[in-house]
Amino acid sequence: MTSLDKATEMIGLEEKYGAHNYHPLPVVLERGQGVFVWDVNGKKYFDFLSAYSAVNQGHCHPKITQALIDQSQQLALTSRAFYNSSLGIYEKFICETFGYDKMLPMNTGAEGVETAIKLCRKWAYEKKGIADHQAKIIVCEQNFHGRTTTIVSFSSDPDSSNHFGPYADGFIRIPYNDLKALEHALQDKNVAGFLVEPIQGEAGVVVPDEGYLKKAAALCKANQVLFIADEIQTGIARTGRMLAIDHEGVHADMLILGKALSGGVYPVSAVLAQDEIMLCIKPGQHGSTYGGNPLAARVAIAALEVIRDEKLAENAQRLGEIFRKEMQRIIDGSDLIQLVRGKGLLNAIVINDTPESSTAWQLCLALAENGLLAKPTHGNIIRFAPPLVMTEEQLMECVAIIEKTITEFKK
Ligand code: PLP
Repeated sequence: MTSLDKATEMIGLEEKYGAHNYHPLPVVLERGQGVFVWDVNGKKYFDFLSAYSAVNQGHCHPKITQALIDQSQQLALTSRAFYNSSLGIYEKFICETFGYDKMLPMNTGAEGVETAIKLCRKWAYEKKGIADHQAKIIVCEQNFHGRTTTIVSFSSDPDSSNHFGPYADGFIRIPYNDLKALEHALQDKNVAGFLVEPIQGEAGVVVPDEGYLKKAAALCKANQVLFIADEIQTGIARTGRMLAIDHEGVHADMLILGKALSGGVYPVSAVLAQDEIMLCIKPGQHGSTYGGNPLAARVAIAALEVIRDEKLAENAQRLGEIFRKEMQRIIDGSDLIQLVRGKGLLNAIVINDTPESSTAWQLCLALAENGLLAKPTHGNIIRFAPPLVMTEEQLMECVAIIEKTITEFKK
């Protein structure tokens, strides 16, 4: 069988036996290393999506995969019915890294968000004194926090929420990057938390005004409301700091991490908070069979060590500035692209076309043809988020691919 046949066969199998809940680019990948992935035909690509920012440390990072191999041969899963010899070490490491008393380990990002919502409500009833069933959490328009029934209940994206009702109660949606709206919503005494993405990734890398997060956190504090940062996509060095809220010197009351917490080799998420909040949940009140398993613990320690030792936040900050400057230069000479925006190596370009048009999709197909993988979000936006282990030389190669593709592109 030729490899072209193999690609067709693999796409056919997914089409026939897999649920149609994704619309992938027609590229069948079988290997990855650092900033590169290879398809079944042996074609090499720059990965400019990094599995939605899960692979910040690069594909198959040797230190992370070694931690996975070593621990999987020793002890992978115990459940939390017993202690294990890795979890405590991981908990201490992550708490000290981010400056919290305690962490609660989960697996996927959505589970992390669910955990934060539950913790916030518990705290509201047991510490703040809100009457039972009355607690509310403020969220933002265009948010993306995952796919569970509770989370899609407060989504403003019809694709996420339509026909998945009845919806969960207890959320107030306000415009993003709007302090007046937040101030107004905070007047409701039953508000317990404000759940926010420091940059809205899925909405198309929407960066709020400078000072928004700092002022929002201060407003929450003044109203005894928990400021809950969903850093699942923006965290772990992606935006040029360890956390995106670090750009404004904000310390969230609750921090949610996922994705790159494992460097993309295993689902690992976590919620961090101080004792006053975290100890509201007692034994038997929340958990997950896989949450906090030894494999996850060792992988997450290795993933965080790689970020620190290889100075990936610094690299993201430096390369991000070069990238946006280069994109702006290309945009200045092209009618196809409206703007570039982002922070660190979380960036997006907005195509000069309606969200309904297929221009961004066609452009991504052309980029793939030229050796760079990216994916449209919300129709006319293309997110650019390469692994943070990229060198400046590689980045300039990518800029050249993007420039050539845009220059030669015909609608
Ligand atoms: N929160 C944010 C900000 C995200 O970007 C995502 C995923 O893209 C999630 C939550 C959900 O994470 P997961 O897909 O691991 O459930």
